[in-house]
Amino acid sequence: MNNWTLFCGKLDFSGTDTDALRQFASENYETFGIYPMSINFAGGSYYFLIKDASHKKLVVFGKGDCFNDFDGEEIDVNGIYAKVCRLSNYNCDMIRKIFPFTNPINHKGKKITIGLGDRLGLASPGHIRLIKDKDVFPVLAQQSMRELKLTGRTYHDVLSSAAWSVFQEGYVDGFGADGDHLKTAEEINYALKYGFTMITLDCSDYINNKAPSMTSDEIEAEYSLIPAADRQHLEAKYSGKTFCLKNGCKIFFPPAEFKRTVITYFKAIKYTIDIYNNVIKNSGKCIDFEMSIDETLTPTAPEAHYFVASELIDNGVDITSIAPRFCGEFQKGIDYKGDIEQFKKEFAMHVKIAEHFGYKISVHSGSDKFSVFPIIGKETGGRYHLKTAGTNWLEAVRVIARKNPDLYRRMHKFAVSNLQEAKKYYHVSADVNNILDIDNLKDDELPSLMDMDDSRQVLHISYGLILLSHNPDGSAAFRDEIYSALHTYENEYYEALEKHIGRHLAELGIL
Ligand SMILES: [Zn+2]
Repeated sequence: MNNWTLFCGKLDFSGTDTDALRQFASENYETFGIYPMSINFAGGSYYFLIKDASHKKLVVFGKGDCFNDFDGEEIDVNGIYAKVCRLSNYNCDMIRKIFPFTNPINHKGKKITIGLGDRLGLASPGHIRLIKDKDVFPVLAQQSMRELKLTGRTYHDVLSSAAWSVFQEGYVDGFGADGDHLKTAEEINYALKYGFTMITLDCSDYINNKAPSMTSDEIEAEYSLIPAADRQHLEAKYSGKTFCLKNGCKIFFPPAEFKRTVITYFKAIKYTIDIYNNVIKNSGKCIDFEMSIDETLTPTAPEAHYFVASELIDNGVDITSIAPRFCGEFQKGIDYKGDIEQFKKEFAMHVKIAEHFGYKISVHSGSDKFSVFPIIGKETGGRYHLKTAGTNWLEAVRVIARKNPDLYRRMHKFAVSNLQEAKKYYHVSADVNNILDIDNLKDDELPSLMDMDDSRQVLHISYGLILLSHNPDGSAAFRDEIYSALHTYENEYYEALEKHIGRHLAELGIL
C-alpha cells in the first residue's frame, strides 16, 4: 500500500479526465493508497490525499501556480516535482483558497440541516458518505467552547478537519460550520474569524431561572426593575392580548403570567439584539444566526417562545433558528426521556410559532432521540435543524471496543473512575452501579456496552478527560492510541457512522 508515486506515472497534466483518474485510483486503492475522490487538478498541479501507516498527507504533484505556497517535503518523482504535505491548518488554508467547495457556506433556504459535530475531527467523511445523496445539508464543523476546551482543539482545527474531509470525499454540495453555544462577542468573533457560517448564541446567562418559582410579590419587585418605557411598551403590545398564528393557532398572554415571562427573558432578548447588531450584522457576512434558550431549568412555554421570537424580529434580528427547551429530558447520547404524547403536542406548537415567523426550530442534544425523531420529521414538515455530536464520538469508541479491546478497557476504567469530574461538564443520570463489571466481560462482549445507557453516557461525557489525560512522563494517556486505532480502522469507523446516523435519518423520515 501507499505506492502513490506509481500513480503519478498516469498523470499527463492535461487535467481533463479527473473522473477516470478517480475511478482508476479507486480500483487500485490497495496499491496506491490514494483517496480516490480527493484527486483534483488545478493551476497546473495535481492534488490528492494519501494514507500512510500513521497519517494522511496531501500530495501536490507538478510545479503549478500554487506549488510553492504549500509547506511540505519536496521530492522528485520521475523527473517531476512533488510536494508531500502535512494536513496542517496552514496547508488547509491554501487548499481552501484553491478549491472553494472546501469552505463552509450558510444554509439559508435549506430545509433539513443537521449538525454533525466531530470532536475528534475524524468523523466527517463517514457523515458525507451517508448524506451525499440525501436532501440534507450537513453542518460538519460544529463545536462549542466547552468542546474546544475539552478536546484541546481550536476553531481553526475544527474547520480544517471539515475542509480536509470534504476534500477527501470530493464533496462539492456545501457544508456549514457552527460556532455552537457561544456566549460572548469575543467567542463569536473567534469563530467568525476562521469562517464559521453559523453562530448559535447561548443566552442562558441572561435568562432568569428563578422567575418560574417566584411569588407574585417577587415578580412585581423584579418587574419594577425593568425600565418603565420598556414595561409600558411591552404591556401595551402583549399583556391580555391574543395573537393568531398564520396557521390558525392562538397565543394568549394573561397579564399576571406575562410579567413572569418578561422577567425571565427580557435580558436575554436585549442581549441577543445587542449581539446581532454589534457582531453578526457588522461581520459583513451572511450568517445563520441561532438563538438557543435550551440550557435553562424549565421548558420553554409556547407563549414565552412567541414573545422572544416576536421581540427579536420586531427589533430587526434576522434569525435562522431558535432552540427552545422542550419538555422531558434530552440527555446526552441516549433516547428521549419523558411523556412522548406531551412532547408531540408541545413540539407541534413550537413548530407553528417558528413557521409563523419564518425561521426553523432547532433541536439540540439530538443524538439518539429515536423515539421522538418521527415526531420531529413529521410535525416540522421536513424543515428543521437538528444537532448531534456525542454520538459520533461514541461510534468511535464502539470501533475501538471492537478492534482494540485492551485500549477500550483502559478508557472504560478511566471514565468510570473519573465520572464525578466528567459530570461537572454535563448533566446525565448515568449510574456506575448499573454498568457491568468489565473484568467479567469477554472481548467480544465489549462493543455491547455501547448499547447500554449508563455505559454510553459515562463514555460520552468523559471524552475530554480521556483525550487530555496524560501519563506521568507527559505523554498522552489515550489520545495517540485513539487516533492511531481510528486511522487504521478508518473505514470501520465510517461504516459505523453511516449505520448509526443512518438510523437517525431513517427515523426522521429522510430516505
Ligand atoms: Zn444546546
